[in-house]
Amino acid sequence: MAEVLVYVDHVDGAVRKPTLELLTLARRIGDPVAVALGSGAADTAAALAGHGAVKVLTHDAPEYADYLVVPKVDALQAAHARVSPAAVLVPSSAEGKEIAARLALRIGSGIITDAIDLEAGEEGPVATQSVFAAAFTTKSRVSRGTPVITVKPNSVAVEQAEGAGAVEALEVSFSAQATGTKVTSRTPRESTGRPELTEAAIVVSGGRGVNGAENFAVIEALADSLGAAVGASRAAVDAGWYPHTQQVGQTGKSVSPQLYIAAGISGAIQHRAGMQTSKTIVAVNKDAEAPIFELVDYGVVGDLFDVVPQLTEEIRTR
Ligand code: FAD
Repeated sequence: MAEVLVYVDHVDGAVRKPTLELLTLARRIGDPVAVALGSGAADTAAALAGHGAVKVLTHDAPEYADYLVVPKVDALQAAHARVSPAAVLVPSSAEGKEIAARLALRIGSGIITDAIDLEAGEEGPVATQSVFAAAFTTKSRVSRGTPVITVKPNSVAVEQAEGAGAVEALEVSFSAQATGTKVTSRTPRESTGRPELTEAAIVVSGGRGVNGAENFAVIEALADSLGAAVGASRAAVDAGWYPHTQQVGQTGKSVSPQLYIAAGISGAIQHRAGMQTSKTIVAVNKDAEAPIFELVDYGVVGDLFDVVPQLTEEIRTR
């Protein structure tokens, strides 16, 4: 079976969930070969073996922490030359997409970004995308070179699988561009203790109906009872009620959780663009005619200040 390169997103050896999703998809089209770079790279092997990685290519060097993405692109290019894979899969984070685009250019390949599904095809892997503000679902494949495909987090449920996961050292010689942009400082964002918006399995979002920054406590309480991330519509963000980092939609972040709860959000096309691929959608809105109800699995017509606290209370007692 052909091998499929999977770029490992990890923090000091702790593998992040989107990588496990990539491994699940990679197994549909070949044998996953993981590429883990930087501090703790070799420590990722145990987690990856339980998800079917047949091999883990690792490389650590200060360049991965000290410079922006080019050292990682150099390493993936080296892995590509070594394995001649059927495809290269990268998580659809901002960094992942930059790495993927640069790699595709280097190896003369086509690229598909923000795939939400992947299947084997006679002429290569076929990727599903949700496009034009989620108005259409398309299927496409790369017709030149090794397909480089980025996949949106939460697009697929993680499935475990056996895999040898043997660690092998990757040889990488950095290009002249690798040290072109130096990282001068890092300021970690203050942690809310909640999962990252784009990776969360559950997202609870508030909109203009929340009617004030202080009222977002109602949304946060529900989110915390579910272990969810908090999102916001642009109207809520523009009003200064919630940080822009948490905006969901066309000009915000694109999320695809197992469960998306929208409270006081009308469901404008630009908001839908960022959440329509969620597996189960629930809305609370006092207007029965709100467009959000066109796409929900479960809708509650009511005042969010009545409904959401009751929901939170009910979940807490279970
Ligand atoms: P509204 O449309 O005002 O809806 C508020 C809803 O809350 C209403 O349906 C109302 O019935 C309900 N409500 C009010 N009070 C209560 C209550 N007490 N209980 C229950 N329900 C209540 N929007 C985004 O979200 N994300 C984007 O990324 C984005 N990008 C954009 C890009 C462009 C180029 C443009 C032009 C617009 C963009 N927008 C985006 C804005 C978008 O068009 C909408 O204006 C916005 O999504 C509306 O936010 P909202 O649903 O919170 O507010």
